[in-house]
Amino acid sequence: MTSRIVVHLDAIRENVSALAALAAPARTMFAVKADAYGHGLLPVARAGLDAGADSLAVLDVPAALAVRDAGIEVPLFAWLHGADTEFRPAIDSRVDLGVSSLRELERIATAGAERAAEVHLKIDTGLHRNGADPKDWPALVGAALDLERHGRVRIAGIWSHLADASPADDRAALDRFRAAVDIAGEMGVPLEGERRPVLHLAASSAGIRFPEARLDLVRFGIAAYGVSPFDDVDAPGLGMRGTLSMFADVIGVDGDVAVLEVGSADGIPPSVLGASGRGAEILLAGSRAAVLEVGLDTLRVRIPEGTTVALGDEAVVYGPHAGAPSVEDWAHWAATIGDEILARSSRRLPRHYTG
Ligand SMILES: *Cc1c(COP(=O)(O)O)cnc(C)c1O
Repeated sequence: MTSRIVVHLDAIRENVSALAALAAPARTMFAVKADAYGHGLLPVARAGLDAGADSLAVLDVPAALAVRDAGIEVPLFAWLHGADTEFRPAIDSRVDLGVSSLRELERIATAGAERAAEVHLKIDTGLHRNGADPKDWPALVGAALDLERHGRVRIAGIWSHLADASPADDRAALDRFRAAVDIAGEMGVPLEGERRPVLHLAASSAGIRFPEARLDLVRFGIAAYGVSPFDDVDAPGLGMRGTLSMFADVIGVDGDVAVLEVGSADGIPPSVLGASGRGAEILLAGSRAAVLEVGLDTLRVRIPEGTTVALGDEAVVYGPHAGAPSVEDWAHWAATIGDEILARSSRRLPRHYTG
């Protein structure tokens, strides 16, 4: 074999299914942004939908259209729009659009689409990563109601994103969210009945630990990819399995050092050996081996004592295998978050799907 990434679709299905059961009766929107956190958009989207997610959070319009082009018909949510985003194909393909400002709303309403755009109005509840400022909220809601009367948009959702900085912050954000929903209700957005917009706020962290914030649906991302959003419990502790493995071939043996065929260009963070790094290990010949050097294309590791290693042997850099480090371990060693380890996991290595 050669060095490669293996994506465990069975683990993705198990994780999504467990999260969906936890969040129910709230529905599960599966976040597949950033090429499904480095796993590959389409196979992972399908696995999540098989396992009980009923919609996908795709980030932007191009990703949404790629999902539609692949024949996936579930509701799609895209919320990050550039100055050059063309909304018409998204609206005609029934992609739900997050809207943070009057400007965006106007661009969507005048996109020339054949149908009313399904918009989810975003209120900033404290994260300050787009979303309408509370002082601009009534104007945004008012404009959306007006456009709805003219058949240009439908207010399909009201949403926000939590900072997950602390339980107190999330609680305050939920209160701000509820206040914004109340304002929308007073202005004429129906909060009961069939035309009621879906309300959504929680991602993995609040979806797991803050039941009140689940509202109508939870946008689960990182936990479904087998990485805990918490510092005090790892993914197995939450009942989640790792979903991605990186394997590396031994391409050189030099005394007690083995050279592996992956490097920083494959997403191995060199910072594990830097000033803020904590060292790193891989699994080689059944034992943990210390990483000595991270090159662009190679890793040099100390061959574990009492083992023999030959050219062509295979090391596990990370993945859900007995004795192997996890993505979470690498995130800890590199003083970063698991999202980043996953997102960096090579575009260069061949990617295989199992399960
Ligand atoms: C990334 C993202 C999610 C998923 O967040 P996780 O913490 O990975 O579960 C949900 N909603 C939005 C808007 C996001 O950007």
